[in-house]
Amino acid sequence: MPELPEVETIVRGLRPYLEGAELGIFRLLFPPLLRRVPRAALAAFEGTKVTSLKRRGKMILVECEGGRTLVFHLMMTGQMLIERPEVPADKHVRLIVPLIGRDRELRFRDVRKFGFLCCLGPSGSSPVPELEALGPEALDIDFRSLARLFQGRGGCIKGLLLDQRAIAGLGNIYADEVLFRARIHPLKRAASLGEEELKILWKSIRAILRLAISRKGSSIRDYTDPNGDPGDFQALHKVYGREGGKCPRCKAGIRRIKVSGRSTFYCPHCQKKVRLKKSMQRKFG
Ligand SMILES: [Zn+2]
Repeated sequence: MPELPEVETIVRGLRPYLEGAELGIFRLLFPPLLRRVPRAALAAFEGTKVTSLKRRGKMILVECEGGRTLVFHLMMTGQMLIERPEVPADKHVRLIVPLIGRDRELRFRDVRKFGFLCCLGPSGSSPVPELEALGPEALDIDFRSLARLFQGRGGCIKGLLLDQRAIAGLGNIYADEVLFRARIHPLKRAASLGEEELKILWKSIRAILRLAISRKGSSIRDYTDPNGDPGDFQALHKVYGREGGKCPRCKAGIRRIKVSGRSTFYCPHCQKKVRLKKSMQRKFG
């Protein structure tokens, strides 16, 4: 699933094409893509201009004149592509929106069909609970707020990092890479992290996400940017998808376990569940 760095890359790639563009007649080729509102709701967007493009968690917000917003979630395999109208759309394209006067159209392509589109009306009342429930942005949260998030939390740290209601934007890949950088075992109890570990975790979240954005995300399976170009952060993954490979830090074998039903990769040597004191580390390390 595209996570914060991939969605951020998509939003940055779409901006020059979409901002200021007038939307034409929507061609909804797969009606279940649209959630909670009747198809007629899309007509309100036709002929209006896009005022700005934003990312919230893993969702893409296309804000239009009149206070209306299109909310896209790519889920597993969704793609937002910019194409010339004469380029044929394949069978996985679920929605086409012409961009008037720009000789381009926006296409939502989705092989697995889990992606969805919601509409926010000008009233301000939100029919998008997935959006309303989101926690603070993983890249924007300050250290104190992150620390508060962990106080008294049941469950393990990996589960908490994946919970979009707690912190928005991280998914399976970046949670594993962040925990490796911070040397924290994915099954460690969230509430058991000390001040020092939390600080390293907070810095790791920012460092990994910023680096991944600079590399335009990780291309695994279907992810590409709006021009169809892949990212290349996958070449820098230190643990994710590398079961049996050597830890780049200590050369131990990377392990895979299941956490919250998700494959989780970590180094059993660098990421210990119980942190040994420095003197013990030297002895047993
Ligand atoms: Zn290691």
